[in-house]
Amino acid sequence: MRLAILYRGPKLAFSQITRNLSNDNVPKALRSLKSKSTRNNPQYYVDSCRVRTVGGNGGDGCVSFLSAWCKEHAGPDGGDGGHGGHVIFQATHSKKSLNHCNSVIQAKHGDKGTRKDCNGKNAQHIVVQVPLGTIIKDSTGCVVGDLEEEGTMFVAARGGAGGRGNKFFLTDTEQAPMVAEFGAIGETYQYTLEVRSMAHLGLIGFPNAGKSTLLRAITRARPTVAPYPFTTLRPHIGMVPYDDYEQVAIADLPGLIPGSHKNYGLGIQFLQHVERCRGLVFLLDGSAQPAEQYATLTRELALYSSALAARPRAVVVNKVDLPGGRGAFERMSKRGERVIGISAKTGANLEEFLRVVRSMYDADADANH
Ligand code: GDP
Ligand code: MG
Repeated sequence: MRLAILYRGPKLAFSQITRNLSNDNVPKALRSLKSKSTRNNPQYYVDSCRVRTVGGNGGDGCVSFLSAWCKEHAGPDGGDGGHGGHVIFQATHSKKSLNHCNSVIQAKHGDKGTRKDCNGKNAQHIVVQVPLGTIIKDSTGCVVGDLEEEGTMFVAARGGAGGRGNKFFLTDTEQAPMVAEFGAIGETYQYTLEVRSMAHLGLIGFPNAGKSTLLRAITRARPTVAPYPFTTLRPHIGMVPYDDYEQVAIADLPGLIPGSHKNYGLGIQFLQHVERCRGLVFLLDGSAQPAEQYATLTRELALYSSALAARPRAVVVNKVDLPGGRGAFERMSKRGERVIGISAKTGANLEEFLRVVRSMYDADADANH
């Protein structure tokens, strides 16, 4: 309506107007109709979120009396209200992340009952798909649901029952009931959802060690790379495809610094991400004392949880293309533990790294089956 007033050309259909207008003679109010940006917005991985689930209210019952031409007082005919919808979480393998979960999930209300014995419509339940292995905790932190198998459901908030109309209250002694019920209020609960297993392997390292660069080099994930610490604030997941169609999920995690177990830097939140990876890849910056970095990282993990320190691990020295990096790698390899030297930027020795990743994945699969 507003558009038609602003456009002063010949009379055209709306679609023609928008097509015919070139950018310079576009009236101001039409400029907002330009095509959507094609820029790639990053999709972040969300492995834990708090949600408030609100069931729909039941519809109210109706008070009504039928009056036909042949019979003036033909009795009560108020219908019942419809039931409110539930909020349900359902596990599915097709979802990997919780980034689609809104912070408030509200189900629809049931419709009211109406005259002529018409019952209100029941509201549809809201089924929110969550990844397999999602843990549901209530507001006290107690685990109330564990969706391990495909299709398992958890009713998070039940909708209210619909109220009954006055037809229901018709008895031998009460022929004209003036009462009907209100619909019940839907339940409201607060939950924390957590995905138990985020990725097969997690990249752990100091800020600027080259974790994001490595993930970009071996997968199609596109985390931001920049030479300043804490470029990566949320985890990114990439899938490494192998020739036998097996895929290994690798997570680029935010950087770890000394004192993380006391919540320094991104602290505890970061360590919680680490907990959800089955194996760990320690990525050390070859140009900045990798031995000390390794000692700090292991200490931080051990201080946070001894179970984490016992996870299968691989030690990788990055930036061997730099003059200091190669020497540091050789010094690290002499210490006895197997160390892989790579350059995420130039792609040197990534094949060996991918072979090690695959062997860790296979060992984990064998252990679980
Ligand atoms: P993150 O903080 O661990 O994710 O580190 P980034 O991947 O953002 O990398 C930090 C900086 O190190 C960037 O400027 C990269 O270009 C650089 N970098 C990463 N890998 C290598 C490498 O193998 N060789 C060299 N020379 N630079 C690298
Ligand atoms: Mg990064």
